[in-house]
Amino acid sequence: MNTGGGAPRLEINLSKIHHNARFLVDRLAVLGISVTGMTKAVLGSPFIAKTMLNAGVSSLGDSRLSNIKEMHKTDAGAQFILTRSPMLSQVDDVVTYADISFNTEIDTIVALSAAAKNVGKKHGIVLMVELGDLREGIMPDDVEDIVRKVLRLPNIKFMGLGANLACRNGVMPDTNNMQVLSELADSIDSITGSTMEIVSGGNSSNLEWALNGAEVGRINNLRIGEAILLGVDPLNRKPVDGLNCDAFTLVAEIIEAKIKPSQPWGDIGQSAFDNVTAITGQNNIFQILLALGEQDIDPNGLSSSLDINILGSSSDHLILDGRKCDLSIGEELSFCVNYSALVRSMTSPFVVKIMQK
Ligand SMILES: *Cc1c(COP(=O)(O)O)cnc(C)c1O
Repeated sequence: MNTGGGAPRLEINLSKIHHNARFLVDRLAVLGISVTGMTKAVLGSPFIAKTMLNAGVSSLGDSRLSNIKEMHKTDAGAQFILTRSPMLSQVDDVVTYADISFNTEIDTIVALSAAAKNVGKKHGIVLMVELGDLREGIMPDDVEDIVRKVLRLPNIKFMGLGANLACRNGVMPDTNNMQVLSELADSIDSITGSTMEIVSGGNSSNLEWALNGAEVGRINNLRIGEAILLGVDPLNRKPVDGLNCDAFTLVAEIIEAKIKPSQPWGDIGQSAFDNVTAITGQNNIFQILLALGEQDIDPNGLSSSLDINILGSSSDHLILDGRKCDLSIGEELSFCVNYSALVRSMTSPFVVKIMQK
């Protein structure tokens, strides 16, 4: 049953990703909202970036400059946005590889201005506003003062405002916090005397707000990663209607299959990952070992359509209760991944990535 390609591997169905991106681009376009395709969960994969661009995203966003550099090699014409505040130590590369960066610190923007001047470029700045989730963002009352300073800097173009919710504390995007951002955009426009280009309301967790008939106000951009890649709403991890949830399949190979006692014996200390779980009520189980471990995936982020149960993991092994399944060594098992397992498998050099058309 081994289909080649090596295991463990992540099979990536690009047409499913294309469908998801296109679906969201179309649905949001009706509302006047453009989509920035977020590539950070897939390590800036040029194949996936290209797929998103073909599906109509207006720009590519990533939190890591190294991913943006990678994408430059194949998609040099695209607009690239660095969505994590730049480190002061990286401003030279930021202005070289990113057209726009999201920022919250005036000293960093001053350094970006100097770096952009050095290379004769104009660098776009979106100022992130704190709306309650308490990750990055300028407190709303302080935005005006920073905008005035930004406008005075050479080689810097003030592009607009952005916000990010539901990442640290799970604060949900809603009519109230989106209206705060819209009103702030109006008041900043009245100071600058022009209409800002970008009012970026948030990430995949904004979809429920956007697609359920809310007044979108000034919001004209969303940055979408998880919903394009995995088809789910990060607020509840439920499938979004119309999207594919199975664009990524993780495949691993069985290296041991034995009837074993369900209970360990001997004195019990800590295990490698401090995750001992006791199973009760069974004498023997059909225990399966996969050549897949914590270095490759997040074991809690895997799901299977087979009647199997994940019992434990170590760096390089995943231990399953094979139940009624008739499984033997050399066979492969397939899993769907959640965001955490996707990020870990994309990041692991041990997991082969297979792009499928
Ligand atoms: C990760 C991130 C996104 C994309 O989030 P998804 O939930 O994957 O859509 C958007 N904006 C910022 C600032 C991010 O850090």
